[in-house]
Amino acid sequence: MKTDVVVIGGGPAGLAAALKASEHADVVIIERDKELGGILQQCIHNGFGNFIFKKMMTGPEYAYHFISLVKKSGIRVMTETSVLEIDGNKKIVAAGPSGIVEIEAKAIVLAMGCRERSRAQILLPGTRPAGVYTAGTAQRLINIEGVMPGKKIVILGSGDVGLIMARRLTLEGAEVEGVYEIMPRPGGLTRNIVQCLHDYGIPLHLSHTVTDIVGKERVEGVKVAEVDESLHPIKGTERFISCDTLILAVGLIPENELSRQAGIEIDEITNGPFVDEHMETSVEGIFACGNVVHVHDIVDDVTASSEIAGEYAGRHASGKNGHGMGLEKKHNIKVVAGENVRYVVPQFLRHMDMEKLTFYLRVKEEKEDALVVISCSGKVVFEKRERMVKPPEMVKVSVPASLLEGADEVRVDVRCRNG
Ligand SMILES: Cc1cc2nc3c(=O)[nH]c(=O)nc-3n(C[C@H](O)[C@H](O)[C@H](O)COP(=O)(O)OP(=O)(O)OC[C@H]3O[C@@H](n4cnc5c(N)ncnc54)[C@H](O)[C@@H]3O)c2cc1C
Repeated sequence: MKTDVVVIGGGPAGLAAALKASEHADVVIIERDKELGGILQQCIHNGFGNFIFKKMMTGPEYAYHFISLVKKSGIRVMTETSVLEIDGNKKIVAAGPSGIVEIEAKAIVLAMGCRERSRAQILLPGTRPAGVYTAGTAQRLINIEGVMPGKKIVILGSGDVGLIMARRLTLEGAEVEGVYEIMPRPGGLTRNIVQCLHDYGIPLHLSHTVTDIVGKERVEGVKVAEVDESLHPIKGTERFISCDTLILAVGLIPENELSRQAGIEIDEITNGPFVDEHMETSVEGIFACGNVVHVHDIVDDVTASSEIAGEYAGRHASGKNGHGMGLEKKHNIKVVAGENVRYVVPQFLRHMDMEKLTFYLRVKEEKEDALVVISCSGKVVFEKRERMVKPPEMVKVSVPASLLEGADEVRVDVRCRNG
């Protein structure tokens, strides 16, 4: 089969990209799940769409808005179909209800989201009983399958998914003994610390970790201990907590096996592909968006940047702009993560044909009264004040592209306003 644009993944990123691409070209969405909507289908709490729709929606409500537009748009949707292979020539091999399908596309949008870190990835010691779940699995069990994972729960990690699950489990009648976080600061958004822990009296133990899982058939308890500055357990602080379930909320990793297979260059810091301002990766005609590029806090940002990926994938496939199959790349401007910046996306500017450029970044250190400073070849061209910046909260800054004209390098620093 041949088509113009194939979007891999039907979560909010894939839906937004497909809708935009369909304004220019024929589009197929391939989704491995039974339904479109991605992770939003299991996020039945509200807190989605504050920026785009100016109201609080649940995950399924937010997804439904885009799914209904896709249904009306003529976009072809292949659900229960997993993409197994892609290559740099944009050939796709997928497996679905009718067997193996091979598709040749003119452009691909990668929108596979991310997956959760598991017990093995954080080398958690102890026995291997039932009752250890990632937070996303526990969320799926309760919200989609209607099954409670346990009655007395310990949560390791204070990422947003874990915080939301602490509240959800409490509302469903479980006892959440506490959330244990190895770092000296919480991993999730402040709003989730307040609304999911403080409002329900659930304690958050910073600089603590689980040192052992106890139980043969089922979890009988866990040992927790305080950690020192090098994150090693401090002798004498270990204590046993009786529980039947341990929930892990220890981070998300962009799902990039397919990207690597296609020879796309991956950023070691984000674990996602390097992208330019069109969200195009290092392989011409392959675009990426959403959590596959970097883990987002807010779905509205996923939608906004995925529309850019879809727009340019559609234009690429339809040969718009008069440059044959590609869009002209006139520049190779590196965007450098400077002082107190862990990463910036996009990492390159290669076209300089957009009116406004939006940079997404994460800081290394918390700072009050901060200034996001954009410089071109050593000269400050734009500044944005932020009341507070924190590592778990993504910072977004939109800059008129005209200010970056002629730059050979763009640098982003986040400083204290008063030095
Ligand atoms: C528990 C939780 C709570 C959240 N709460 C909020 C909130 O309150 N407010 C907010 O704004 N944001 C929230 N977010 C963030 C937001 O939901 C995500 O940023 C967003 O869903 C990411 O969209 P995505 O499309 O990139 O990924 P996903 O939603 O993960 O979608 C990726 C899709 O790709 C499919 N896929 C993957 N690999 C393949 C393959 N090989 N073949 C075919 N299909 C494939 C997957 O099945 C999936 O459907 C939350 C996220 C989580 C996990």
